[in-house]
Amino acid sequence: MIITVASGNPHKVEEMNGINPFKNIVLKKIEGEFDPVEDGKTFEENAIIKAKAASLIVKDFALADDTGLCVDALNGAPGLHTARYAPTQDEKIKKLLVALDGVPFEKRTARFICCMVLTDKNGNVVHKTVGKVEGYIAEEAAGCGGFGYDPIFYVPKYGMTLAELPDGEKNKISHRFNALHPMLEFVSDNLK
Ligand code: IMP
Repeated sequence: MIITVASGNPHKVEEMNGINPFKNIVLKKIEGEFDPVEDGKTFEENAIIKAKAASLIVKDFALADDTGLCVDALNGAPGLHTARYAPTQDEKIKKLLVALDGVPFEKRTARFICCMVLTDKNGNVVHKTVGKVEGYIAEEAAGCGGFGYDPIFYVPKYGMTLAELPDGEKNKISHRFNALHPMLEFVSDNLK
């Protein structure tokens, strides 16, 4: 079974396929430009907007995730604005490090939250899951694996950032793993 992933981000789809243990399910990035207006008020609403838009294009099941980085010392920011926090990824990281300047390490707690939604060919929601990973915002960027904010997301269990983890390790602990695994279990058990 091929499921379209409602994302224009090839890194995300590659990562999702790295997590997917089901040999009978293939996750395929939607073709062409895909950039629907994400004007939802929650991660879930944005994931629904993206999944629905993709389902209506491909006239089949579609899977979307909406992910945000929530930093406690910034009252949950960047949160819903994680993708639009600054124009480029380097600038987003710099802006977050500046916003946390002077905040001691123990108060830099943060989490990635990933909301995943599956819609059918008519854009109706079939299933929803949520996954999280807890960590700290590091004082400087480190590592070149992963994508997005991974170089500044420090995971205490490993003593390194998500971007420094050895190949494959992020996919065992990430917010996306924690949302995608139960979603694919649902697909495997319920859809043909
Ligand atoms: P979106 O859900 O694809 O719109 O992602 C929102 C923002 O979070 C973007 O800036 C991504 O780069 C970032 N992001 C999403 N997933 C991850 C991740 O696994 N690691 C680091 N940053 C991420």
